[in-house]
Amino acid sequence: MLSKAIKESLRGIETPFYLYDMGLLGRTLDTIRAEAERGDANGKSYKIHYAIKANNDERILKAVLERGFGIDCVSGNELRLIRRLGFPADGIVYAGVGKSDGEIELGVREGIRAFNCESRQELQVIDEIAGRLGMRARVALRINPDVDPQTHRHISTGQADSKFGISYREIEQVATELPTYKNLDFQGLHFHIGSQITDMRVFEFFCRRVNSLVGWFAERGFPVGYINMGGGLGVNYDAPDAEPMPDFGAYFDAFRRNLEVGDAEVHFELGRAMVAQCGELITRVLFNKINSAGNEVAIIDGSMSELIRPALYEAYHEIENLDTRAGDQRRPYIVAGTVCESSDVFASDRVLPELRRGDLVTLKSAGAYGQSMSSQYNMHSLPRIVYSDQIES
Ligand SMILES: *Cc1c(COP(=O)(O)O)cnc(C)c1O
Repeated sequence: MLSKAIKESLRGIETPFYLYDMGLLGRTLDTIRAEAERGDANGKSYKIHYAIKANNDERILKAVLERGFGIDCVSGNELRLIRRLGFPADGIVYAGVGKSDGEIELGVREGIRAFNCESRQELQVIDEIAGRLGMRARVALRINPDVDPQTHRHISTGQADSKFGISYREIEQVATELPTYKNLDFQGLHFHIGSQITDMRVFEFFCRRVNSLVGWFAERGFPVGYINMGGGLGVNYDAPDAEPMPDFGAYFDAFRRNLEVGDAEVHFELGRAMVAQCGELITRVLFNKINSAGNEVAIIDGSMSELIRPALYEAYHEIENLDTRAGDQRRPYIVAGTVCESSDVFASDRVLPELRRGDLVTLKSAGAYGQSMSSQYNMHSLPRIVYSDQIES
């Protein structure tokens, strides 16, 4: 990808930093837009909301805004940021199991497209707050469809035992109470089953579940005009150079063929698939050593404070030494970060060409849930950001 081509210009920049490939980002967003415009089986365009929690970098958000996508947000601060950047309220949906009263009030005042509500109590509170403000709120029900996304347990959200959404146990009661809310406008249903899903059969099965739920609500007199299928499309972390973009055609096809839409508007909330491959974390090797078990350890100047995914989800990121010399031997390394935690390890048995002090080492596919999850743990500074179009000649 980008890093090797512009290696010389990277050399003068203090590590660690995130490098964003703005060209790849643009191509990815353009592809999604074209595929979404093909729309559902009736030719009605799919509505795309970028899940801002994946990466809230302002230049990335501007690229998203320029293409007319909406936003899926999960906090009041995300909502404030996107309104300040000029995203129209009508393209904003708001999910999250625990919205505070202040956050709800903000969303009601802004007149967002939909609160994706995750509990009975949340519906009651939104109704009360909207009533107090003398306003109306558009709501959709986030139903937990109990679909196994076949992904890592820490990024599964749509199974029976999870905290997300309204469960089958309470759905009947929620439907009974819906007509009693005086200040809510029921839009339809929302789902999000998990992340990094690469098997299209999962989405096909998910569509069939949603069809029966939409039917269930319609039978009870609640026509579903809004079906939000969430996000979750995965990227190729194993071979990002070979597959810098997921197959958006196959993804939307799975829904086009399996989701019964009637005249509902179909929404998606893609995060990772939009931004993961356009980012990498560039680091330098600080030290080499051998541990008591005889493993070679390379300490790089990045850590879980800048990129927590390996520590949090056992996530795999491709690692490349940009300073590999001809004839360098490949051998197994533990590649570890600087932070005082044993989980601060990027790879525990990775065969790589020799890593020497000072070599530039990149962790690929770090554009999603990288910068946005970074912290100041160990009093690190937040990671610097470099955009490809600032350094390309
Ligand atoms: C995180 C999240 C998304 C985006 O998930 P990706 O796997 O990054 O596409 C979409 N919708 C909701 C409700 C989310 O919480």
